[in-house]
Amino acid sequence: MDLLEYQGKQLFARHGLAVSPGRAVNTVEDAVAAANELGYPVVVKAQVLIGGRGKAGGVKLADDEAQAREHAQNILGMDIRGHTVRTLWIEHASDIATEYYASVLLDRSAKKPLVIFSVEGGVEIEQVAEESPERLIRRHPDALGGLTRAEAIEMATEGGADEDVIEGVADALTALYEVWSEEDAMLAEINPLIVTPEREVKALDAKVTLDANALFRHPENQGLSDTENQDPIERKANEEGVQYVALDGDIGILGNGAGLVMSTLDVVARAGGRPANFLDAGGGSDAAKIKQAVELILSNDAVRAVLFNIFGGITRCDEVARGLIAAFEQIKPSVPFVVRLDGTNDVEGRRLLSEAALPNVHAAKTMNEAAEMVVALAAGRAPEPAQMSS
Ligand code: GDP
Ligand code: MN
Repeated sequence: MDLLEYQGKQLFARHGLAVSPGRAVNTVEDAVAAANELGYPVVVKAQVLIGGRGKAGGVKLADDEAQAREHAQNILGMDIRGHTVRTLWIEHASDIATEYYASVLLDRSAKKPLVIFSVEGGVEIEQVAEESPERLIRRHPDALGGLTRAEAIEMATEGGADEDVIEGVADALTALYEVWSEEDAMLAEINPLIVTPEREVKALDAKVTLDANALFRHPENQGLSDTENQDPIERKANEEGVQYVALDGDIGILGNGAGLVMSTLDVVARAGGRPANFLDAGGGSDAAKIKQAVELILSNDAVRAVLFNIFGGITRCDEVARGLIAAFEQIKPSVPFVVRLDGTNDVEGRRLLSEAALPNVHAAKTMNEAAEMVVALAAGRAPEPAQMSS
């Protein structure tokens, strides 16, 4: 679960990391009021779940009320690479002497936390990694012991932080590590971590991803998910407890089990298709559940054909077929469906489907066959008769 900058900064502040005072607002009037209250100069910052806002014109300094109003007007409603700005963060502007970089993440291959510090802040860190990897200081602290004070000092020193802020940078690194570990974050990143002319070390930006599976341990963080900016169908699905993800192609993907859904996406992509979305129907096979899944998949207008991929285990294919037939009687989908049933009672399942002779439903026996059929149907071609099977 990705947090907006200002939400990340709230977590930072909770753990003693210095951030500037600010207000989150949704209207120009509130932005101006917040700016007047905070005192000029202020920074007007777009709150969207994507980086590079500065380059896109979503971060602007304002010296007075007129400028604050102008920037708020321009940035609210702005589209930053597909993300519409609905919230602004107004913060008292900082003077910057130096920009550093700091992050903590889980290094899956090392199976350890990874702390990164660099004096090359304010630029894209990928660029630093490519052009001057020696400028990135990386440490794998012990997962149980955490980042020690000595390690943090060592990182700041080795990284080349200014002598007089070594302590301050070490404090920031240990606080950031604490955010990452105590809040169950997957990523906690500060770019830039600034040093002010008064030599204060402070987080000017925040990128935090929380582990959604650990949210139950943090009731105070549960309100942080940015449902307002989420894809509306995705939000509806999440509210109904269904795993649904929106993509930008034209083939709907429905399967039972996350692994099967992932491989279905791969197989469709290999057959030359582009998934519009995918949904994990889980273990359910009753008509109501299948109807709900089919409705969610079809609520995306871009969907031109759907691949319904079921591998029967505990869920029996004949039950799924009955559920599908019942659901189709109620919904009557207008786009073609390719249904692949394999596993427990698959022969019976396919027999039920072919007897029901649902219009616009094509049965397939294997995943590859199903993928080729659905790609052809989405492109407006009839699937090869040779590929049709009972
Ligand atoms: P990003 O572009 O999405 O990474 O957004 P940031 O929050 O990192 O802001 C982009 C850039 O705006 C920073 O790297 C700074 O150079 C500049 N900036 C942001 N806040 C301030 C501020 O308070 N004072 C000054 N002088 N510059 C700022
Ligand atoms: Mn940044």
